[in-house]
Amino acid sequence: MLRTILVVVAVLLAGVTAFIVSAWQIPAAMQPDRDGNRSWLIENAVLLDPATGAARPEASVLVVDGRIEWLGSGTVPAAADGVNRIDAQGRTLLPGLIDVHVHVFDETDLAAGLSHGVTTVRNMGGMPFHLPLVERLARDDILGPRLITTGPILNETGGRNGNDLHEAVAGAEEARAAVRRQYAAGFRHLKVYSNLSRESFAAIRDEAAALGMTMSGHPVEGTEADPLAFEASLDAGLRTLEHAESIVWYGLDDDTDPDRMRALARQIAASGTVVDPTLVVHENLARIVETGGAHITRPEMDGYNPVIAGFEREGWAFWSDYQHDDRTRMQAFYVAFTGALHEAGVPLTVGTDSGVMVSPHGVSTLREMEILVEAGLTPLEAIQAATLNGADVLGMDGQIGCLAVGCAADLILVDGDPTQDISRLHDLEAVMRDGRWFDRDRLDDLSEAATHPSSLRTWWRLGQHQLAIR
Ligand SMILES: [Zn+2]
Repeated sequence: MLRTILVVVAVLLAGVTAFIVSAWQIPAAMQPDRDGNRSWLIENAVLLDPATGAARPEASVLVVDGRIEWLGSGTVPAAADGVNRIDAQGRTLLPGLIDVHVHVFDETDLAAGLSHGVTTVRNMGGMPFHLPLVERLARDDILGPRLITTGPILNETGGRNGNDLHEAVAGAEEARAAVRRQYAAGFRHLKVYSNLSRESFAAIRDEAAALGMTMSGHPVEGTEADPLAFEASLDAGLRTLEHAESIVWYGLDDDTDPDRMRALARQIAASGTVVDPTLVVHENLARIVETGGAHITRPEMDGYNPVIAGFEREGWAFWSDYQHDDRTRMQAFYVAFTGALHEAGVPLTVGTDSGVMVSPHGVSTLREMEILVEAGLTPLEAIQAATLNGADVLGMDGQIGCLAVGCAADLILVDGDPTQDISRLHDLEAVMRDGRWFDRDRLDDLSEAATHPSSLRTWWRLGQHQLAIR
């Protein structure tokens, strides 16, 4: 009898262990390269330099150890002897895309991004697991986009729209302590949320400055008793001001008067603030309303994290049953407002809130660039937003988002000319990430891997996060 019980227990334990191990496994497509080759000569490409907008046909790029060593049309330098060669067959080579507003909950999110040519992401809601993940990516223990993360989202205790992922602070003292805690944990960028009080926002700003941390975030509204003027968010030195939707809400009270819209755009331009419009977020919300919810189950949502879907379900149900057409109208206004920002000279970035709401990773970045073109940017300007401007706000100017000697070999190879038609970015032939080559087959493997997020891993990480922000 005892023997039988022991055998049953052993079998059960083995089963549970096997389940946990398989749920924890990193997809094969993201495992480090066996040969580790990071030196290549890419020949016969059209080089698209976002800095100049110039396209150089029949050119080559020499990559040595993950860095651009040489590029041009003339004689290839001797350093190219013996490196692997790739024939680009006249396709367009440009820097990989930078998405400055995503939410990473699982490694598979990174696979989704990379499979669409996103070679750098800024995670806008830090959790404890993000810091070691940054290191694992930097060490090539796992392949994926370059990851930059903010700390946990800072919001006022009891603030409207607050949620359990936020690190809630009640007043200046707690705000200061939260910034110090995030710094000590290893975070170097902060994310501020809408409902911080005047005192907490000021304390976060001062503490960040003292510690040499940078800040990005939503327009900060203050409290009901002590509302902040919109200008407070323009004067705060934010690296990026997030969400056209939030800016229209706080800056215009949702008033769609075109004169007020242009005046606000001019005011933002004068402040030197960079705006990350994230237009795809509200577009998806408007689509849920328009389709009575069918938009939520579109094939692009296949890799959406089921744990996060559980949290979003209530909101999705609300918008699925929403019977008004004001979301479609407001979406058109956010797009027009973004066009006005661009016209006024406000630098724009590409961000998507991928991972939350109904924005899947990767494909949302491409859609955001298309909406920017609908807003009035040229395709080249949308590419500049996703490369040069993204690098700039991340403090990585001249290192990523560029196609010049010394830049990281984060590159994408596209069929056709994306400066004529931005949707050409969907025809992705290959991606190079830090000198590692992902051909179409490997990109397909990444896409497939992206459809298997681990719920177990996500729950574990959310639990860790709850303990850290307590
Ligand atoms: Zn976000």
